[in-house]
Amino acid sequence: MSANIASFLYLISGILFILALRGLSHPTTSRQGNFYGMIGMGIAIVTTLLLALPSFEGLVLIVVGLAIGGTVGAVVARRIAMTSMPQLVAAFHSLVGLAAVMIAAAAMYSPDSFGIIDNGHIHAQALVEMSLGVAIGAITFTGSVIAFLKLDGRMSGKPILLPMRHMVNLALAAALVVLIVMLVSVESTFIFWLIVLVSLALGVLLIIPIGGADMPVVVSMLNSYSGWAAAALGFTLGNLALIITGALVGSSGAILSYIMCKGMNRSFISVILGGFGGETAAAVDDGVQRTVKTGAADDAAYLMMNAQKVIIVPGYGMAVAQAQHALRELADKLKANGVEVKYAIHPVAGRMPGHMNVLLAEANVPYDEVFELEDINSEFAQADVAYVIGANDVTNPAARDDKSSPIYGMPILDVDKARTCLFVKRSLGSGYAGIDNTLFYKDGTMMLLGDAKKMTEDIVKAMDH
Ligand code: NDP
Repeated sequence: MSANIASFLYLISGILFILALRGLSHPTTSRQGNFYGMIGMGIAIVTTLLLALPSFEGLVLIVVGLAIGGTVGAVVARRIAMTSMPQLVAAFHSLVGLAAVMIAAAAMYSPDSFGIIDNGHIHAQALVEMSLGVAIGAITFTGSVIAFLKLDGRMSGKPILLPMRHMVNLALAAALVVLIVMLVSVESTFIFWLIVLVSLALGVLLIIPIGGADMPVVVSMLNSYSGWAAAALGFTLGNLALIITGALVGSSGAILSYIMCKGMNRSFISVILGGFGGETAAAVDDGVQRTVKTGAADDAAYLMMNAQKVIIVPGYGMAVAQAQHALRELADKLKANGVEVKYAIHPVAGRMPGHMNVLLAEANVPYDEVFELEDINSEFAQADVAYVIGANDVTNPAARDDKSSPIYGMPILDVDKARTCLFVKRSLGSGYAGIDNTLFYKDGTMMLLGDAKKMTEDIVKAMDH
């Protein structure tokens, strides 16, 4: 296959990837987006195979690699629980980072095969691209491994704050720049591996100070880094598909991180610099005796069946309990009884953006009943019932009213403005941010203590009586 045809096919796959991202930005078009992505990837893989055709050995290596990687990926993806998705993504990104390091090492040791040699030396431009790719790749690798360990509970989610960490990180970053300049001027494999070592250390040091609660934002940042590493190596390999996909992953990851930061009221810069999420969230302990009104499924069924408008607020607990199907049944019963039902989704409800939308879509909840925070928040004041199922932080009024709260400034769903707020969770325990929710003790709140799925099923049963 000629290089021109290959470039053209890679361009087509790049366009399909752009259409995929566009499709994935809305639930109604997400299936179509996925489909475009698959076709684009199919074209990119076939083109690469055809380019490798002249070398039978190369072709066999690619096919064996695809078979091993594809099988492992398919098995892991089938088995993984939806709630463990962030750590899976972190684990996969670590492999992207490692791949970037390996490709750069291959180019360093065998520049001839990459066509980057001139008068017996590697081009300066190729050396810059390789060193950027290897540095970002190695940072992504160790950073993602730490993110995986924290998210999976194999390492404490608490921030590890080393003394003078900012100075150390700055010194390492400066050393990295010096080493890259040296590599470009002396082209030594020793310096190449020094860059790898310093970057591996920087990846660890940048991520360990970040608390487990903010780790999903970090995963999205690392996703972005892995894209930039791939794009840099795309230049070295002269591979248009890698440049386009790398840039798309890099920029979409950065945009996603920005959206998550905004949803949690974090500053983007502090995420990039690392070391955020170190606040220790204290439970409310002001000596005041608080009373909690608890209720049973029958009470909830009565209140909801007699309501005119019910707004459902799903959160992480709904995902844990897999209560989305029972919830849909509950909503169907209410609608059949003439009750208006809407769903309110907070941008960071659950453990990743879109977490709740995916679960509700899985239960065939109509898209036109699902609203984002800014579109529905004003409606809570007219709602008779807010049914908060497994959500906690995203409803906590401390974010609105308590300047000393670690989540102060985070936009929240105003469920406390509804006439009655029904809270389904197993205990009075805190959510991901680790802070007490004063809403549990308010007059208009009724706690329905229990598993989200079981409680919702019981309410549905009680509605039949
Ligand atoms: P929270 O983590 O605040 O609360 C979830 C609640 O669900 C817990 O308090 C828990 O209470 C309850 N729960 C757990 N299991 C069950 C179960 N089986 N049945 C019933 N309840 C259950 O979730 P939110 O969705 O409100 O907030 C998301 C949090 O995650 C925010 O702090 C956000 O900043 C953070 N985050 C989100 C990201 C995203 O992109 N979505 C990214 C990074 C962080 P109990 O144990 O009492 O049952």
